[in-house]
Amino acid sequence: MSLKNYEFWFVVGSQFLYGQEVLDTVAARAAQMVEELNASGNLPCRLVYKCTVKTNDECTDIVRQANYEPTCAGVITWCHTFSPSKMWINGLSNLSKPYCHLATQYHREIPNEEIDMDFMNLNQAAHGDREHGFIGARLRMPRKVIAGHWQDESVQKRLGRWMRAAYGVMFSRSLKVMRFGDNMREVAVTEGDKVEVQAKLGWQVNTWPVGKLVETMQSISESEIDALIATYGSQYDFASDNMDCIRYQAREELAMKKMLDAEGCKAFSNTFQDLYGMKQLPGLASQHLMQLGYGYGGEGDWKVAAMTAILKAMSEGQTGGTTFMEDYTYHLANDAQYSLGAHMLEVCPSVANDRPRIEVHPLGIGDREPPARLVFEGHSGPAIVVSLIDMGGRLRLICQDINCVDPIMPMPNLPVARVMWQAKPDLATGIEAWITAGGAHHTVLSYDICAEQMRDWARMMDIEFVHITDDTTVASLEHDLFLSDLTWKLK
Ligand code: MN
Repeated sequence: MSLKNYEFWFVVGSQFLYGQEVLDTVAARAAQMVEELNASGNLPCRLVYKCTVKTNDECTDIVRQANYEPTCAGVITWCHTFSPSKMWINGLSNLSKPYCHLATQYHREIPNEEIDMDFMNLNQAAHGDREHGFIGARLRMPRKVIAGHWQDESVQKRLGRWMRAAYGVMFSRSLKVMRFGDNMREVAVTEGDKVEVQAKLGWQVNTWPVGKLVETMQSISESEIDALIATYGSQYDFASDNMDCIRYQAREELAMKKMLDAEGCKAFSNTFQDLYGMKQLPGLASQHLMQLGYGYGGEGDWKVAAMTAILKAMSEGQTGGTTFMEDYTYHLANDAQYSLGAHMLEVCPSVANDRPRIEVHPLGIGDREPPARLVFEGHSGPAIVVSLIDMGGRLRLICQDINCVDPIMPMPNLPVARVMWQAKPDLATGIEAWITAGGAHHTVLSYDICAEQMRDWARMMDIEFVHITDDTTVASLEHDLFLSDLTWKLK
């Protein structure tokens, strides 16, 4: 289900103490706030005012409804007046949807002339939200707290970004990943506990034989291939006249898509070591599937495939781009240092700076025919790279802030798509921090999703989160990882 089909429920806290008139005003204002927030254009999903909660039963009832309503992706609460929190305990304890506490107030400024005891009774969010915050803390709830005036664009945008992270939770909980073959032999970081991942993140990760894919490829008609070639032509330039090779990629793409859609899978992995019966490693095929929103992971890396799908889902409707990525090589000049990211073939053209070219080159490894692939440069701008690793007993999500640049050289003989970036806080410290945390060589690179959203997502999924920022030092990171190890052993 698409991001746009989800809604979030606005639930306001109050109590009977102040009389019906105050409760009527609270309800009317809550409805007005929701209307304005929806009209702001800063929320990716519809916000729905559900009720003003005054009793334990009302709270329990609305949480039960939220849990069972498939289109509800989260609950956003706010206390216009004081709302004693013991009445929220039974309800909130059972909430299984993402939860955000919006600590705001209806009025922006204190009205000098108007303020009297009636005003004070009606507008008590400053302490109502603290009572509400206590019970969230006391119950150890994984919650987002956003404070500020509800009409501020920055507050609205943060709420919108959190909605996308919450949608990432909903998407994750129903995500299916198709593995074509196993992981690349002997590689450690692409392994992981698929039972733990399903219990924690909801992913259904299963394998399908490459032979089934080959069989499906044989069932693809020439006219289906013609149609996909026309689609390629509308989006990419043909820089090769080896149409047999390009048509073979189209056949691979159509077959993979058919199998993915038949099973409801939104992510897939494959490996160059298991292409039994296939003439080419899917390159262009995987790249175009990523552009359509499917997650991909090379060398059987189903974790990064799933994360790519999730970040793509969270960024639905945004245009910066999100891709499977791999750190390939460094530029370690004295005056300026960069990472060069690429892959054997599979970088998503959603991050391209210019119109991608379809080229055909030998692969250099493996024993298959030269595959067609898209070649392009990634665009400049702030981004993140994300890696999910299995620490044994827990999952760790590592996120690094980066700044992508226009590649500082043309690299005319490099036959793959490439993105160049500056790692935070600087390349050497960034590498040391990444390696200290155990981050993989495979990542998801996104220009659309920010670290705060990944932190929100990790909190909601109850997994460890490590953020490498401009302020990171290796000493502080080591300290954090040490404490984190202890914490997660106790959990
Ligand atoms: Mn790789």
